[in-house]
Amino acid sequence: MGVDAHKETLGFQTEVKQLLNLMIHSLYSNKEIFLRELISNAADAADKLRFEALSDDALYEDDAELNIRVAFDEKARTITITDNGIGMNRQEVIDNIGTIARSGTKAFFGQLTGDQAKDSQLIGQFGVGFYSAFIVADKVTLKTRRAGLTAEHGVLWESGGEGEFSIETIEKATRGTEITLHLREGEDEFLNGWRIRNIIRKYSDHINLPIVMNKEPVPDEDGKIDDSVIEDETVNKATALWTLSKNDISDDQYKEFYKQVAHDFEDPLSWSHNKVEGNTEYTSLLFIPSRAPFDLWDRDRMHGIKLYVKRVFIMEDSEQLMPRYLRFIRGVIDTNDLPLNVSREILQSSKVIDSIRTASVKKILSELSKMAKNEPEQYSKFWKEFGQVIKEGPGEDFANKETLAKLLRFATTESGSTEQTVSLEDYVGRMKEKQDKIYYITAESYAAAKNSPHLEVFRKKGIEVLLLTDRVDEWLVNSLTDFDGKHLQSVAKGDLDLGELEDEQEKKAHEEVEKNFEDLVERVKKTLDEKVKDVRITHRLTDSPACLVADNYDMSANLERMLKAAGQQVSGSKPILELNPEHPMVAKLKDESNDDKFGDWVSILFDQALLAEGGQLDDPASFVKKLNAMLLQQA
Ligand code: ADP
Repeated sequence: MGVDAHKETLGFQTEVKQLLNLMIHSLYSNKEIFLRELISNAADAADKLRFEALSDDALYEDDAELNIRVAFDEKARTITITDNGIGMNRQEVIDNIGTIARSGTKAFFGQLTGDQAKDSQLIGQFGVGFYSAFIVADKVTLKTRRAGLTAEHGVLWESGGEGEFSIETIEKATRGTEITLHLREGEDEFLNGWRIRNIIRKYSDHINLPIVMNKEPVPDEDGKIDDSVIEDETVNKATALWTLSKNDISDDQYKEFYKQVAHDFEDPLSWSHNKVEGNTEYTSLLFIPSRAPFDLWDRDRMHGIKLYVKRVFIMEDSEQLMPRYLRFIRGVIDTNDLPLNVSREILQSSKVIDSIRTASVKKILSELSKMAKNEPEQYSKFWKEFGQVIKEGPGEDFANKETLAKLLRFATTESGSTEQTVSLEDYVGRMKEKQDKIYYITAESYAAAKNSPHLEVFRKKGIEVLLLTDRVDEWLVNSLTDFDGKHLQSVAKGDLDLGELEDEQEKKAHEEVEKNFEDLVERVKKTLDEKVKDVRITHRLTDSPACLVADNYDMSANLERMLKAAGQQVSGSKPILELNPEHPMVAKLKDESNDDKFGDWVSILFDQALLAEGGQLDDPASFVKKLNAMLLQQA
């Protein structure tokens, strides 16, 4: 087969250009991480080869000793990182290096502000990988050949990181990838064997294959250096960190290992390292990051847990290893109880995987529970980053619902700020004496929730209400209907029944008022007709004349609006209009004999109630017209 050797010059994807530009200008404080990123890629390439070779031994050619080499050349001012891993073919180079195929990239770039300090924070969430080479290099040359292809299918890729790269087919005798960094002016500190060794030990000590360098030449007694014999030396420990005993691992080692597996710049918030023996044998080392990744909202992007079998990397796919609501967890699971040639299909129905997953989830949740109890500040940091994702939990993970419920945090009418700090246990602990329900309101924003007319009677009676304003909250309350034997009750749904919180006298007085207003209620019902499911007198309002509520089993108005905004067909359920008998407007209405005027009043009351809970009017212009007419009459 002929080889298409032509050289072509291609442009980087716009996003890559932006990324490169940002990186070169904003990562000046921590430049050395480029080596960690490139070594991590090389290690992944070795892992991939090992895996593919399980079913095709020939891929090893005659070189089965996988390693990574790091070399530098002071005169040429280059650093070269070489691996004998899987390598890439021409198309893979084009696809992998030069485009960012990751989902969520657009959203990430949408967040960039142009403010360097802010943007360099963001880039930490993105994980720069290969491109980090351009932090220190103004030209990068990559030679690679995919394992299994013949020598004439090598590829040469080169770029100055300024918008273009060239690619051509070359001869390459050895498989794998060799990356040469031509250092920028002023980056000579990296042309130093001791410095490079230091960086490798700092970040990559526990990569599970040897990172080899030439031994530093030691001058003899006369100060002469004999460079005719060059010896190799393995710089890192080359043991997989998770295989060591906890006592032999320092916090710093855990942190560095995390940064390498997660491509994160920041320390993890916490981790859990477990060796499990018994029915299923495995080791897990799981990390809770301190910051949400840029693609946290992409529920389909499941990555972050690397599965190893007997220390051989099998795949990175958390789908089977973590539930979606824990998709931000990073780490490694290594088991002896699966065959090396395990496939995705086998994983899906594997009892071993099931039991590892169940136990791992328990570990993470117990780690979080501990943090919530013993380190509330850490936990509130965690909650800010991942709280909304944890709220997906009760709907997804029935078995752990109770544990998850205890981990939830909310803003409430008592907490006094948008910050979500109140746990359900806190809430239950300060419930009123005869209160038997946990009350909540869902709304589009904190302000809309806090100022909702539905809260008026609760404020009067001093009853705390959870203010739920995250999009996920509607789903949360759908799946979490009880906590600690107490029902979660929307204050905007159903007939307000404060149960024991109302005394006999109050109840009697209410009944009388309702009787008094029977005629009015009938008349309003007739006027509004199709627009409402029902009209009734309420005692939940103190300041507002009217409000809308949903029937107990109907969809909440907030959820209906969210679904509509998301383009879904919703067969909207009609609301119930409740009138406040104490309000002068309602009293006035009672005495209105003119049917036209009565109709206008009712229509205004209804529209106001809709607006107050964040709804949209069908016919705003006629609302304004009617209101103005009323105002003029009053003037
Ligand atoms: P990431 O590692 O997060 O996927 P990178 O930008 O670091 O992103 O790398 C992009 C892709 O390029 C990798 O996923 C891999 O497919 C390929 N790649 C990078 N370095 C190597 C290498 N040394 N050997 C083989 N493939 C590589």
